[in-house]
Formats: sequence, C-alpha cells, structure tokens
Amino acid sequence: MRRVRFIRNPLSTHIGHNVEEFLQELGGPACIFLDGDDTSRTRAFVTLLHGNEPSGAIALFQWLKSGRRPAVNAVCIVASVTAALTSPVFSHRMLPEDRDLNRCFRPPFDDAQGALAEEILEILRLHHPEAVVDMHNTSGSGPAFGVCTHMDRQHDALVSLFTQRLIISNLGLGALMEISEHSYPTVTVEVGGRLDDEAHVLATEGLERYFLAPTVLAQRETDWGLELLRDPIRLELNEGVGLTYAERPSGAHAVTLRPDIEHLNFGVVPRDTALGWATGDIRRLFSALDAGGRCAVSKLVRIENEELYPAMDLKLFMITNNAAIASTDCLFYAVAADGSTILS
Ligand SMILES: [Zn+2]
Repeated sequence: MRRVRFIRNPLSTHIGHNVEEFLQELGGPACIFLDGDDTSRTRAFVTLLHGNEPSGAIALFQWLKSGRRPAVNAVCIVASVTAALTSPVFSHRMLPEDRDLNRCFRPPFDDAQGALAEEILEILRLHHPEAVVDMHNTSGSGPAFGVCTHMDRQHDALVSLFTQRLIISNLGLGALMEISEHSYPTVTVEVGGRLDDEAHVLATEGLERYFLAPTVLAQRETDWGLELLRDPIRLELNEGVGLTYAERPSGAHAVTLRPDIEHLNFGVVPRDTALGWATGDIRRLFSALDAGGRCAVSKLVRIENEELYPAMDLKLFMITNNAAIASTDCLFYAVAADGSTILS
C-alpha cells in the first residue's frame, strides 16, 4: 500500500492560503516534485518527520507561493501531515499510538511508521538526489545547527547554507540522516525553536538558497568557519524516574530542572552552574553512553547537596523544558566545553 501522495509542480493558487491549509490540501504524507531549470539533477528536501516542527513546512509553502522554479529538480517530502494537523495543530511530534518516525529508518519496517519510512527511502532511491536536507525544529528555544554523521567538504557546504554550527554525531538511532547518508550527502538542519519566528525565517531563506544555488556541493576544500561539536553524549532519564521543571525542588519528583534551562543551549556551561535538583544515585537517575558504549553519566553531571551540576565545563544543546520529550527522548546533548568528544 502506498502512503505517500505524489504531486508535481503544484500551482501557487492550489496550495491554500497558509501552511495549515497547505497541509490540509496534502491530506497526508506527500511527495512534491518540482522541475528545475536543470532537469538533469535533483536535490531532496525532507521535512515534518515530526508533526510539531513547522518551520520546514512553512518554508516549503512560502517557496511554492512564490511560484519560482528551482535551479535543479527538487523532490520535497512532507511526512507527518496527519500528526501535524491533529488538534492542536503542530503540537504532536507523532500520534500517541505511533513510533517516532525519525527512529524508523531501519528494519523492521513492519508497522505503519516503518512502512512510511521505507517508502520515503524508496522515493529518495528513485530520484537519486545529489544532496538531502532534512529540516527540523528543536522543541526548546535556541539557535540553529546542522547535524551529520561524518564531516567532509560536502556536508560543510550544505550546512553552511543554513547555519555555522555543525554537530558530528552517529548515534545509530534509526534517523533518516544515518541511512540516507550511505548513498547521498545528507544533513539534518535544526533551524531553531519550533515556536520561534526567526526559525521560520531561517528555514525560508535557507530553503531558497538550497533551491536556487547552481551548486550546493563543494568543488574544493573551503573553510566555512563552522563551529564543530563532535560526538555529543545524550543524557537520558532512566525509566520510572520522575522529572519536573520548577524554581525549587519538587518533593514529588526525583529530578527537578530549572525552568529556564533551555537558555543554556549552546553556551559554555561552567561546572558550578546549577541545573536543578536531584536526589539519589546519579546512575540510578540517568543514563549516558559515550561513543565507545561506556557509561558516561559521571562525566556529565554530579549531585552536590541535592543540587545538580555539570561534572565538568560543558557545551549543552537540544535542551528541552518539555518533561514528556525529555523523559522519552533525552534531557540534553553534551560535549566538552572546547567542543571535543567526551570519553569515559
Ligand atoms: Zn525533529
């Protein structure tokens, strides 16, 4: 059964008046193919893998409204349309009964989300794009960054269309980036917080650069001046450990984080910065694995007088203040303050 609707060169008058109407027109997962000036090459744009991350869909809607033609063919995949349209709009990462689509890009593909992921991979294979950009928002507020599984001049060039910050990470989570990467240069671009207007603006302007540039891949080695963050470690909450965000420790939860913790995104966080409060043994509360698969919890956090601190000077990112996301995904990603890999 095919799940993805195919649409070619939609007219700007047939896509609704705003992004919500645009998604209603699509009605479900869709692949929009745009003929380019040069029809011998194709670039892929994937977005809305997560239904609560609107910037990519907004950017695509704006592009289609503009009626312009891309430099080369563009194959645009808009995935979690149903989750996005489920009321309240743009609030569901996925539907309650579904798996996270960006963890489904590896076998087995045997449920609905797996089948959709497999079909997206098939569409990419069919069009053999010269590059793939997968656009996301972070759930918390914060600056934009790119993510790729390894670094070379192609990834640098692609990311620099959107942002100057690049995370090199290969966590084997089943993300699109990890799989697609084997065939085409693929980057994930996190354009900023899902509720931030500046994220929507960056998405729109970045997509224009991606679609309009005659070449997006580097012909030669170029110094793009990117800030690199290598092999971040995810700090995860162990199952059954209660978490809340509050100004003071909550008796009802083992871990309380400061409500303004997302303001620490991407800055250097010195080891004497209080992150919140926690009671108990850190290894009981948290899990974290370094790139070699060893426990790295004690490299990331420490508890002193029931207050939670970084174990060393760190750079933190993907910090959320949404307890549901933090509990099911992770609290944050961390590298050493100089951007280097943390190893246990
Ligand atoms: Zn996402």
